[in-house]
Amino acid sequence: MNDSRHGPTAVTRRTVLKAMGAAPLMAASGPVRALNKTDAIVIGAGLSGLNAALLLEGAGLSVKVLEGRNRIGGRVQSLRNIPGSPEVGGTAFAPGYARLVDAANKYGVGLVDITPTIPYFMNQQIYLQDQFISNQDWATSALNPFPDQFKKIPPNAYFNVLMGAINPLKNSDEWVSPANASLDISLHDWLVKMGQSEAAIELAYNTNPTHGMSAHDISALLVMFAATFGTKQRELTANNAIKGYTAANGNQSIPEAMANALKNEVQLQSTVTGIRTNSSGAEVHLADGTVHRADRVICSVPCTVLRRIKIDPLLSGKQALGVRTLDSQKINQLHVVPKSPFWEKDGMSPTMFTDSLAGMVIAEHKGADPRDVTSLSIWLRGERAAWCDQVNQQVAIDAVIADLERIRPAAKGQLEVLGYKSWYRDQFSSGDWAIWAPGQVSGFFHELAKPHGRLHFCGEHTAVANRGMEGAMESGERVAMEILLA
Ligand SMILES: Cc1cc2nc3c(=O)[nH]c(=O)nc-3n(C[C@H](O)[C@H](O)[C@H](O)COP(=O)(O)OP(=O)(O)OC[C@H]3O[C@@H](n4cnc5c(N)ncnc54)[C@H](O)[C@@H]3O)c2cc1C
Repeated sequence: MNDSRHGPTAVTRRTVLKAMGAAPLMAASGPVRALNKTDAIVIGAGLSGLNAALLLEGAGLSVKVLEGRNRIGGRVQSLRNIPGSPEVGGTAFAPGYARLVDAANKYGVGLVDITPTIPYFMNQQIYLQDQFISNQDWATSALNPFPDQFKKIPPNAYFNVLMGAINPLKNSDEWVSPANASLDISLHDWLVKMGQSEAAIELAYNTNPTHGMSAHDISALLVMFAATFGTKQRELTANNAIKGYTAANGNQSIPEAMANALKNEVQLQSTVTGIRTNSSGAEVHLADGTVHRADRVICSVPCTVLRRIKIDPLLSGKQALGVRTLDSQKINQLHVVPKSPFWEKDGMSPTMFTDSLAGMVIAEHKGADPRDVTSLSIWLRGERAAWCDQVNQQVAIDAVIADLERIRPAAKGQLEVLGYKSWYRDQFSSGDWAIWAPGQVSGFFHELAKPHGRLHFCGEHTAVANRGMEGAMESGERVAMEILLA
């Protein structure tokens, strides 16, 4: 018998459940324990989620934070097994990071002035096409593709100097203004329009790209946003003796202190697999089958992770498009402790800008004496990170170390690898910061973080005016206000 009153309804429901891959949610609803209900659940104990949780608690709401990893901090992670606790994530911040500095002060985290170490960071040894070029020889080198007035600027600094001169944005929040939609083209195409040569783009941007694999796949607006934010931060500290900070015992101390300040302990190793909301409340489903209930849910995970979480009812339109397609930067790092100061043997700076597999090598100066090198961080961005992710981790580490030893023979046998991180392979990040492709900013930025019923979104990818750690804090503040005003 065909019951036409029930048939279509049943089919529609089945179809929808199938489309959203509802199996994990359904499986979880067997021996489900109904846990205490709170006013709000925050998914993720990174800076954005913790800031939101603290603000909501401060306003009198009961809040539960669920974190998938077995540690606090998300993309802020300090390697405390290595001298100086170098950062594998959020690396440094300026005094103008008002929310972050305020949180450190409020929750008793000491700040370390990194100003004395900045000159060491700027002194980068240039290694291109299998040869070292001294800083003195760079201006006249045959490999220098920069326009005459910029010839003296080293490859690692050229792009920032150029952006300072040609960036059309005056304020950092202008990148999402509809008035600037015509700039939502590839960085490459915009730079060419601005008179830059292919060779200059290749060296200054594509060699070690901060956003995307190359200038071709990234929106000019994102890079303008980053540059404007940097300029504003420098302006704020123009008359300030302190130019930058890290936190004592590593930047991870800040989210850890924020978590400690919460009334309810963060629930670690609580991996969220599904979120269901309706007019009367919200449920958050974990991989272990437990279900947590609240009036509101804040989700702070990046889109690369969010698209694996089942959301019921489904997201739709531009918001769904954004969650499905916004990617995150590929970055891998090696952390190495040198057994001896090999750079004293070959007389070159340990910090390097290369077009080789080793990418960028940064000497960390995190000891009591700013001259001391405490470890080396090797940054592999874009294609290098993608290659490392395709091979076995040990193969990647060995290849990078072999490359470094090849180009710096004095380093042979002197490099002890104590840390390796692929942000893209990490299931809780699936990449580093959000990378907006051409067309995506104007395509869906304003829809991406809109509340979806009782589900709200934060995270650095939703920040309007600030980048990185301060962007995460900004987004946590915005989402807390959104809930308090709902
Ligand atoms: C290599 C690197 C260098 C950086 N350098 C700087 C810098 O110098 N300055 C700067 O300002 N910023 C920097 N950043 C960026 C900065 O660290 C991030 O923007 C910021 O920490 C992001 O915070 P968030 O809260 O938005 O996201 P996250 O920190 O990613 O927080 C999201 C949280 O959600 C958790 N989570 C994910 N999936 C689930 C799930 N299914 N269930 C439960 N929990 C889940 C994650 O474990 C994480 O704790 C850097 C980042 C990296 C990786």
